[in-house]
Amino acid sequence: MSAVTHMLATDLDGTLVGNANGLKKLIHYYDSLPYEVTLVYITGRHLASALSLINSENLPIPKLLVTDIGTGIYEGNNLHPDKEWEKKMSAGWNPESIRNIADGFPQLVPQQLPDNRRVSFEIEEKDPGIIKGFKQALVDAGIMHKFIFSSGRDIDVLPINSGKGEALKYIAAKYTDEHTSILVAGDSGNDLEMLTLGYPSVIVGNAKEELLDIEEHPMLFRATETCAGGIYQAWEHFYGA
Ligand SMILES: [Mg+2]
Repeated sequence: MSAVTHMLATDLDGTLVGNANGLKKLIHYYDSLPYEVTLVYITGRHLASALSLINSENLPIPKLLVTDIGTGIYEGNNLHPDKEWEKKMSAGWNPESIRNIADGFPQLVPQQLPDNRRVSFEIEEKDPGIIKGFKQALVDAGIMHKFIFSSGRDIDVLPINSGKGEALKYIAAKYTDEHTSILVAGDSGNDLEMLTLGYPSVIVGNAKEELLDIEEHPMLFRATETCAGGIYQAWEHFYGA
């Protein structure tokens, strides 16, 4: 990958995707710029699901695709998996024991996934007691993990070193330098980590409740436009002429 001068690191559902006119405008704008904006998609979806969204929404092919809330990193058109990252993810990761503990919480509906990169559930009843109890049971069992609750119903248990923030830090260290202009974009709880790394960041106008009380930082921009329309606003705000 050649030197990256500008990078958009964005979530997909509800961030890059969800406002067709805004997306058209953003892509057109990026095409008109005298520099290339390197696209990094950082999604909660698994690989096949992310690819089907990219296809159905006609999204530009990204330079890097980060899947499963930062547990998988794929590079280039041939989606070459980042082996170093894979190794990091497997350290101390024990999905079977997480599933065993979850069996004690019938309110947690396991998500069917193609691999063991993460263990995810949906919770139908909004009962903070169940979420708390599950969390505590994992801690009590001494299971190394990262726990993420988002969109009011998704519970993701991830390898300890994963998450969208860790993945973005890894990518920034590997592909950018201090001169790279970065914008991070998100709309929900699993984006929180990457939105608070200190990079110029945008919370799109349609962001979920869980991001509304996120602590302000000087590089945080709250867009009024939804999804890609908000990204466009933020790019203009930080990097516009
Ligand atoms: Mg999202």
